Amino acid sequence: MLKLSAMAQIICIANQKGGVGKTTTAVNLSAALAVSEKRTLLVDCDPQANATTGVGLDKSVLAQTLYHGLIGEAGAGAVIVDSQIECLKVMPSRVELIGFDVEMMDRPHREHALRRLLTTVSDDFDYIVIDCPPSLSLLTVNAMTAADALLIPLQCEFYALEGLSQLVQTFQRIKGGLNPALKIAGILLTMFDRRTNLSHQVAEDAESHFKDLVFKTTIPRNVRLGEAPSFGQPILLYDAMSPGAVSYFSLAKEIMATNHAGHA
Ligand code: ADP
Ligand code: MG
Repeated sequence: MLKLSAMAQIICIANQKGGVGKTTTAVNLSAALAVSEKRTLLVDCDPQANATTGVGLDKSVLAQTLYHGLIGEAGAGAVIVDSQIECLKVMPSRVELIGFDVEMMDRPHREHALRRLLTTVSDDFDYIVIDCPPSLSLLTVNAMTAADALLIPLQCEFYALEGLSQLVQTFQRIKGGLNPALKIAGILLTMFDRRTNLSHQVAEDAESHFKDLVFKTTIPRNVRLGEAPSFGQPILLYDAMSPGAVSYFSLAKEIMATNHAGHA
């Protein structure tokens, strides 16, 4: 029988600032894609493993994690586990991932470890969503090298745009060498509070800097989004009718509509 398959679109969620909504976006975007019947893989590239616990996985029972895949001790298939959502699989992380930088120090092509690992399973998925640590370390470089597109969450607060030039520079350096095909999927405004002038100001600033790179969907500040991780559930399972769930579903739709899109 003819097997129709295509490589997954790989979206890397990065911003070296902590607490801007990377993990929340990785978990809930991938859940929304999966609920839309897209075969989705969530890759947790952060040693803090918040995405892993956020989808309800118990780290203590995992035999192998992303770390073992990256250093070549395990194949991708041995690392990938199921989640509570049928179309959503996870490449989990755990604290041992901290050792990755040192482990790879004198290895050639160390920026390509994640790309190599994902290539072997890319045909099995429509989307691969990578959650990055709050740094521009080797792990983030690996994620950007493996990705088709970079999604940048921007928290709607004072100093939101500060540090973005460093991130954009890193994007350009990687595009200039390690991954010429890398695009920007978009800038995502997170924790938007429509009652505050500050949120509107950040949105205006982002739009004047980044124009149509800013997603039409904004993610509101929503208590339910903050609560869901402690129940190990994506927002679509925890409270499907909440504004947070609706907004991540809308983001997924926007991404599905721009097939293999992104901006150069
Ligand atoms: P990062 O991965 O960039 O460090 P997180 O996604 O972990 O950021 O978000 C930081 C904190 O803010 C977490 O406690 C998370 O639950 C909460 N949070 C994220 N997005 C929202 C939102 N839209 N509304 C309310 N709380 C949020
Ligand atoms: Mg995080």
